[in-house]
Amino acid sequence: MRYFSRAALLGTAALACYCGQVSAEPSSTGDAVAVESFCRGLSKRINNFDAQQCRDADLQAAAAVSNARRPLLYRDFPAAATALAPKRVLILGGIHGDELSSVTVVFQWIELLKSGRYQRYHWRVLPLTNPDGLFADTSTRVNVRGVDLNRNFPSPNWTSQALNYWKKKAKSDPRRYPGPSAGSEPETRWIVEQIQQFRPDAIVSVHAPYGILDFDGPKDPPKKLGYLRLQPLGVYPGSLGEYAGLSLKLPVITMELPQATQSPSASQSGRIWSDLLGWLDKTIATPASP
Ligand SMILES: [Zn+2]
Repeated sequence: MRYFSRAALLGTAALACYCGQVSAEPSSTGDAVAVESFCRGLSKRINNFDAQQCRDADLQAAAAVSNARRPLLYRDFPAAATALAPKRVLILGGIHGDELSSVTVVFQWIELLKSGRYQRYHWRVLPLTNPDGLFADTSTRVNVRGVDLNRNFPSPNWTSQALNYWKKKAKSDPRRYPGPSAGSEPETRWIVEQIQQFRPDAIVSVHAPYGILDFDGPKDPPKKLGYLRLQPLGVYPGSLGEYAGLSLKLPVITMELPQATQSPSASQSGRIWSDLLGWLDKTIATPASP
């Protein structure tokens, strides 16, 4: 079993509090109310998204909550008991709250996962990692404190580079503010804890609207996933790609869907899924003994 030291996982940046914890307990009544409110909210915010699809996902609330105390929800799909040393895959949607399609496509994949056909892996799915951004009066990329969560990960060079990069290269663009310190946001800390506790063998993070595929970390990247073609963008200080891909040396696939508000069709998202499975089987799954 692979083990990451806490220091390696968190980078060298000092972090004041890693308070978030994943609840392993079944949803309590309070959680059920929070999930219902979340699902109704999503159906109001996202065109053509049915609250029932969200309810059917059977999401669980983590112990951690967002800055605005919204639930941080996830769903585990454990591997079949017969799977030998199953690899683990972590899927993240909605780290940028105005990229609505990145949430709905993850719900489409949850539908597929519920079929039980993919139990050779253990999946953990976080459909909306920035709920405060999505549920703002007008959905925002950043969280409620104005932090771009995808620049807030505690990569080793965060302190020396993230704020400088933001001021000089990003010209202090408020949509890309990395936060006052590495891992300053509870939403970022929650994702870091998922990586620490779940120990994924691969991470998939969904964004929009650039219509390409990016990749960081070890292994050969997929050349395409459905209609998305590989076009490496490089990494930014404090991004998930830099933190998990380069520092922790985990393969990180970043999908950029072509539109932020319009979701891929079921067939398009199905083709992305099918190519993702093909890449995982070829690249991540333990090859059979000769
Ligand atoms: Zn994004």
